[in-house]
Amino acid sequence: MAYLDHAATTPMLPEAIAAMTEEFGQVGNASSLHAAGRRSRRVVEESREIIAESFGARPSEVVFTGGGTEADNLAVKGLYWAGRAKGRDRVLVSSIEHHAVLDAVHWLAAHEGAKVEYLPADCTGRIDPSTLEGVISDDVAVVSAMWANNEVGTIQPIPELAALTRSLGIPFHTDAVQAAGPLPVRLDGLDAVTLSAHKLGGPIGVGALLLAKGVDPVPVLHGGGQERDVRSGTLDTPAIAGFAAAVQKTVADREASVRRLTALRDELIAAVLAAVPDAVLNGDPVTRLPGNAHFSFPGCEGDALLMLLDARGIACSTGSACSAGVAQPSHVLLAMGMDTARARGSLRFSLGHTSTQADVQELAEAIGPVVERARRAGLS
Ligand code: PLP
Repeated sequence: MAYLDHAATTPMLPEAIAAMTEEFGQVGNASSLHAAGRRSRRVVEESREIIAESFGARPSEVVFTGGGTEADNLAVKGLYWAGRAKGRDRVLVSSIEHHAVLDAVHWLAAHEGAKVEYLPADCTGRIDPSTLEGVISDDVAVVSAMWANNEVGTIQPIPELAALTRSLGIPFHTDAVQAAGPLPVRLDGLDAVTLSAHKLGGPIGVGALLLAKGVDPVPVLHGGGQERDVRSGTLDTPAIAGFAAAVQKTVADREASVRRLTALRDELIAAVLAAVPDAVLNGDPVTRLPGNAHFSFPGCEGDALLMLLDARGIACSTGSACSAGVAQPSHVLLAMGMDTARARGSLRFSLGHTSTQADVQELAEAIGPVVERARRAGLS
């Protein structure tokens, strides 16, 4: 199989599997006071230190969660509630966020009185800091803009966006789920950063919200008071150990990996455009994730292309949600100004640590005939 869907989830790194396997054979709740509990706590704290150091945070600024979705919900809901208590009821989010942020703020608007405003993206999927500058004021509870987009791979000007909130004392959250592997993501100068282990070679179901000192969201989960009282729940020691091992390996290999993936990605782009000359590369052509290639194929349905490629052993993604069997065009592509037909005819290919030239070669051979077949099916 040519697995070209690393943005959906990445195969686990052997280091992460080894760390988890060791922990699965152990017992101990990291909050228990006896020796077994203390051992488990030690693993959690050593993992926390690795993750903190890797992302420019202090250990006390790492709040473990059950993944990126939970961290995003904690950030946007928790910081909105904290802001509302001080009379701030506006929420500013980019229009190209993952549903973990977008649906959380929709919910806040529907149930909690939040006044949500969406920052527009340009045709490359970039948020211009001047649009934030034009609408921000001291009645904003939280601003959220993702570090890199999960569909088209465009990287946002995060330092510039965050600087605009800083002067007004407004917390800035960024969803760095896709960025944290390939880019040097740091908490410095930001208030809250979402991470997810399974996008960088760790297990599914664990992540973290990096929370700068003094940034205190109202908890979403109540219970045992773990994790600074911000995220209750027994810590998943094996998953946390696997997460830390994946982070350590990913950061150590980053430079070489980015170089390799960028070259492979450019090869993939060239091969697709050679086979399908009217395909259009979406997203920022330069300021994009090294493993991301996203195309529109005029006259095709993305779902049909996906299934035809799958039948040839090539895994990729349309990036759009399918509700009740009807494919919805991606909100990200629509926000970039794309028309519905072009949005529906789009595919994302995403590379990662297991990707090889053979994967790209397989796609290069398949994509031309597959697009032709999808076009014929569309005409009939
Ligand atoms: N945010 C982004 C940008 C993502 O790509 C994803 C996963 O697809 C998530 C959040 C959700 O993370 P998780 O799968 O860990 O809940």
